[in-house]
Amino acid sequence: MDRKVNKKLMDIYFSLYNYFGPRHWWPSKNDFEMILGAILTQNVAWKNVEVAIENLYKNNLMDPVSICSASDEAIIDAIRPARFFNQKAKYIKAFCRHLIDCYDGKLGRLFDKDISSLRDELLSLPGIGEETADAIILYGAKKPIFVVDAYTRKLVRLLNLLDEPVNYSRVQLYFMSNLETDVYLYNEYHALIDAWGNRICKGKTANCSQCPLVNQCTVKRDDKIEASAGGS
Ligand code: SF4
Repeated sequence: MDRKVNKKLMDIYFSLYNYFGPRHWWPSKNDFEMILGAILTQNVAWKNVEVAIENLYKNNLMDPVSICSASDEAIIDAIRPARFFNQKAKYIKAFCRHLIDCYDGKLGRLFDKDISSLRDELLSLPGIGEETADAIILYGAKKPIFVVDAYTRKLVRLLNLLDEPVNYSRVQLYFMSNLETDVYLYNEYHALIDAWGNRICKGKTANCSQCPLVNQCTVKRDDKIEASAGGS
């Protein structure tokens, strides 16, 4: 095992993996759909995104040329279930316009870039922040970068892995400097944390008795449910 690997982080990973099993992320048929899903899922539950994606397919809007040629109204109508549809329609169109103008619409050419240049370029586009950019790099381009979300920060706090401030760049650096650089590991780890946050450690209905991380959680048993309600 690589010397930089932190046993505690791998124990957390295996606790989650043994409980939930492989997550097979990202849930999409292709990389273009994955990117639209990453934009659409901002501030909304995944089930809403699934309906929006289905609508895009039904309306033949699942490729960059069709999106750029379509009216704003047509895109808005299709993605309405994903909420914040006016903004998200602009973000999707801006990404597709950039892809066509700079890469002839070919995702493979965009993904050929090194991680740092790709990340900077994605972050320069409207509506693409750190979490979305890193999800696109990991799950679309299949390059090793750790994706941090609210559940990851909550896990870091509850398991007392880092002192405050538990911000995006510190959490990302912590995972990436203490794990092997491995696309599969980063892919599963983020997806497993999402399953834990979605199904187990969910606010006032946290299921501490079933939690695979109950032994690593630093919150006292009586305080666990209350603590799990914060920081999501
Ligand atoms: S608060 Fe409960 S559900 Fe959340 S990590 Fe701790 S033991 Fe698990």
